[in-house]
Amino acid sequence: MSAASANPRPLVLISTDVAARGTEFQDLSISLSARYSEAVLWAGGLPLALPAVDGQEVIAQYVRRADGVLLTGGDDVEPRLYGQELAPPLREKVRVTPDGGRRDLRELLLVDELFRQGKPLLAICRGHQLVNVALGGSLVADIPSQVRTECQHRRMDRRSEIVHEVRLTPGSLLAKITGGQRLGVNSTHHQAVERVAPPLQIVAQSEDGVVEGLELKPAASRGFPFFLSVQFHPERLADRYAEHRAIFRAFIQACAVSVEK
Ligand code: MN
Repeated sequence: MSAASANPRPLVLISTDVAARGTEFQDLSISLSARYSEAVLWAGGLPLALPAVDGQEVIAQYVRRADGVLLTGGDDVEPRLYGQELAPPLREKVRVTPDGGRRDLRELLLVDELFRQGKPLLAICRGHQLVNVALGGSLVADIPSQVRTECQHRRMDRRSEIVHEVRLTPGSLLAKITGGQRLGVNSTHHQAVERVAPPLQIVAQSEDGVVEGLELKPAASRGFPFFLSVQFHPERLADRYAEHRAIFRAFIQACAVSVEK
């Protein structure tokens, strides 16, 4: 057996964003920042981008073959999925994925299958919000109009820089991974977690109370190899900050255990 086959990289299924008009034929296409795959590769994983496929049976097969799932950033989750019919001024602040709800549904199915099959999950930004919705939580549709805060959470001008701090819950997985009680993060979001889904608990918050990290409650995490969702983008900081590299390293280590089983 060759060294490569003796020690295969864990396969990490990465959810993708949607471009309504892609570059080849100007039709519905997938889009994925290279930073996600770079971070997975660096940490020892083998990234695999999920195409624009639909249907529970197909999603279940992708999850079965993957050793872990990375849910990525992108547009807003459709508010009706968490029971919100927003009135016009607020609704206009929301920009959902331009594919008739297919990405939302695909990722809800992904989370469902992931729990059924018990595989590691790292959820980032929109992924953090999506997983909260998938498990029964809700979202703040627009931070600037709904949260009293001094902090600007949408800093697209500094998307790969530390722009605010979050306070970590002592003893949480995230605190153990990053080795401290405070963490500097980037911030490119205008939505946030509002009602936390019943199986989840807050493990990171900014000064204004915005939920920046979620993990499974101990009772819900039994038999689940790894679950972490973060509002920031560690893949855009991992090249310069050891704490953010450590998030990917811990996730890929959990995926590697899944390979051995
Ligand atoms: Mn933030």
